[in-house]
Order: sequence, then structure tokens, then C-alpha cells
Amino acid sequence: MTNAVVPNILLPVVAAALVDADGRVLLQQRPADKSLAGLWEFPGGKVESGETPEDALIRELEEELGIAVPHACLAPAAFASAPLGDRHLLLLLYIARKWVGVPRALEATVLKWVRPADMHALPMPPADRPLIGLLDALL
Ligand code: C5P
Repeated sequence: MTNAVVPNILLPVVAAALVDADGRVLLQQRPADKSLAGLWEFPGGKVESGETPEDALIRELEEELGIAVPHACLAPAAFASAPLGDRHLLLLLYIARKWVGVPRALEATVLKWVRPADMHALPMPPADRPLIGLLDALL
């Protein structure tokens, strides 16, 4: 029997909860010229073909924030999914408490350190929002 070709409707996206010494988490605001403009998200982005999720996240954090996160500092924490057009976004969230460099808004409009309990008041993308409660319980 030959394998049927299954269209890949899943869009894998990775994101990080960077946690500071006070238990606050870094969020970035999506720029006006991007989809979901103005929403506050965990930094991250698409997993490209051939990348592991961790490699993709390390690349995204370097591109978006200018920081280096060692592999060993990334702990998988939670996941959530949300429809995105005719696909389905699968968001994998990692926690990191150590990194090299000071995060800068290289792609976002602005960065903000926020306690998980205060995130409920912020507009966030549909896949990020369900992760707030999980993060609050974990930190
Ligand atoms: O940032 P980028 O455009 O590469 O993100 C790919 C997709 O993942 C976008 O649709 C974006 O809205 C989504 N995303 C998300 N939550 C994040 C990061 C990205 O829903 N924390």
C-alpha cells in the first residue's frame, strides 16, 4: 500500500517565556505592518524546514531580541493551538531563565516585562492567550 500524501495543515511555531529575577516575562508588541498587529506575544516564530524546534527558537531570539540562549537553558513548558487561515498554528512555549545579552526590540515595536497575572489585561494572539494560566502556575 502506498502512503497517501497528507497535506500539512499544522504550522509549527516556537516561542519563549524569558523569565527575569522578579518572575516577570518578556512580551513584545507586533509591528503595524505584520499580521496580528499591535498584539503582545511571546517572542518567537515559525519553525523552518529542517530545523528542530529548539534550533528555530534560538535563531528567532537572536533575530528578534539580539540575545543568545544556550540549548541547555530552554525548557519545554506548554503548548497551545489556534486556527490560522486554512491552517492550524501549533505554538510550543519554552521557558528560559538565562541568556547572553540584553533583549532589544529588533523586530517588535516595543518590549515589556509583565507578570503572568497581568497578561490577562493585554491583547494577545489566540495561541498565546491560553498559555498565560499555565505560565502563572509554573512560575
Ligand atoms: O513572527 P512570525 O510572523 O514569523 O510568526 C509566524 C506566525 O506565528 C504568525 O502568524 C504569528 O502571528 C504567529 N505567532 C503567534 N504567537 C507567537 C509568535 C508567533 O501566534 N508568540
